[in-house]
Amino acid sequence: MAEKWRNWARQQTCTPARVERPANEEQLSDAVARAVRDGLRVRPVGSGHSFTAACLTDGVMVDQTGMQRVLDVDTASGLVTVEAGIKLHRLTAELHGHGLALENQGDIDTQSLAGALATATHGTGERFRNLSANVIGCRLVTATGEVLTIDEASAPDAWRAARVSLGALGVISHYTLRCVPAFRIHRIDEVRPAAAVLADLDRLVAAHDHFELLALPHTDKVLTYSSQRTDRPAAPPGRLTAWWNDDALPNAGLGAACRLGRLLPGAVPGIARAVAGVLGRYEQLDDSHRVYAHRRRVRFTEMEYAIPRAHAAEALERVRALIVDRRLPVLFPIELRFTAPDDAFLSTAHGRDTAYVAVHQVAGAEYEAFFRGVEAIMDEYEGRPHWGKRHFQTAATLAPRYPGWQDFQAVRARLDPEGTFTNDYVARVLGPAPAGRS
Ligand SMILES: Cc1cc2nc3c(=O)[nH]c(=O)nc-3n(C[C@H](O)[C@H](O)[C@H](O)COP(=O)(O)OP(=O)(O)OC[C@H]3O[C@@H](n4cnc5c(N)ncnc54)[C@H](O)[C@@H]3O)c2cc1C
Repeated sequence: MAEKWRNWARQQTCTPARVERPANEEQLSDAVARAVRDGLRVRPVGSGHSFTAACLTDGVMVDQTGMQRVLDVDTASGLVTVEAGIKLHRLTAELHGHGLALENQGDIDTQSLAGALATATHGTGERFRNLSANVIGCRLVTATGEVLTIDEASAPDAWRAARVSLGALGVISHYTLRCVPAFRIHRIDEVRPAAAVLADLDRLVAAHDHFELLALPHTDKVLTYSSQRTDRPAAPPGRLTAWWNDDALPNAGLGAACRLGRLLPGAVPGIARAVAGVLGRYEQLDDSHRVYAHRRRVRFTEMEYAIPRAHAAEALERVRALIVDRRLPVLFPIELRFTAPDDAFLSTAHGRDTAYVAVHQVAGAEYEAFFRGVEAIMDEYEGRPHWGKRHFQTAATLAPRYPGWQDFQAVRARLDPEGTFTNDYVARVLGPAPAGRS
């Protein structure tokens, strides 16, 4: 019987002709070759945490849940080879066992490695690049079922393309990553006046290894996460404190506020101020992978834009004003993060110091007017949307924002001329398949 698939946010669904679950690279290659023989297109899927239609297909969906092994670890060099389907929480736990860690992480770890890399998933920290920048090489199964080994020395263009590929070049079976010695993070969360923090933003970002700001809508406050890397021994918070700050407030508390806000949209500014009032200072000192990752139980949808770092404070102020001026019933904070530039052709941080501005709306609530308003602001800064989060751009509007656009397309035309790995989303944002199949 046909299996129905849906993403984490439960807003993207499809019924693939079949779902393949390879247990190793050979089975993966056979599955792709079989799909092509049957005239079906192929879509790799990770954990389904993208908000866009990136994973949807009526052809063959390739689920790599059975490909999660760590294949090789060189603790001296930090080079680690893994199967592409490995979940980030499993990868970081195994790395920790070898005294290693990922250089940086985003704020959850339930994604697959391949899915996170394919959309340029990032964390925060002006000295750190997004996760895909630490890919040394990979193995890619193409539409012929052939397996290509791709690294900077042997195939520099394919390597810059495959690091952030949206699954449009083929299915990646293995990655080799550069990891770093395990480290701890000391993080302090506190609520502060928005004006003071924004006036001091550059210094705060430079002064911390990882700095993140959450602007609390309908208030003049922001919640800041300020983190330093440290060798000090771990001192995790007490269980009750951790539960209250990591689980009760961001999950049950936010969920209840959102339910109330949907019943009484006019009361949202008051609810938002009440939510801001219960947030307090919270401190963590623990292994990096434990501090980075959060549990997210309230389903939501999200848009996130990468803009030149210099515009961060101004862009954030404009989004805050948009919410107030249009009286938008928004309860989720506006998130501001920072990364260093990198050189993957489709990296949202390609070639520029980047600030990421993210907005969210609880699942089921109207989001389009809000997100279109935010997108219009981000367009003025040559914003590049997160490939896994909602946006309304097309290949025509995106191409001028990526200096490596044509280089990516040349690799795509060479590796997937027939568009075996193109679905509707890929056709919209990257253009139709090179040989004209849309
Ligand atoms: C609660 C939540 C928190 C998030 N936090 C962050 C964050 O902090 N920072 C951030 O940048 N993003 C964040 N995201 C976005 C998320 O990291 C990306 O959408 C990511 O792509 C999801 O990974 P996934 O494994 O679920 O991939 P999926 O959504 O399943 O797939 C994403 C893309 O990867 C492709 N793909 C999957 N496997 C392969 C493969 N083997 N070879 C080639 N292509 C492949 C798919 O075809 C698709 O195009 C968050 C999302 C959610 C829901």
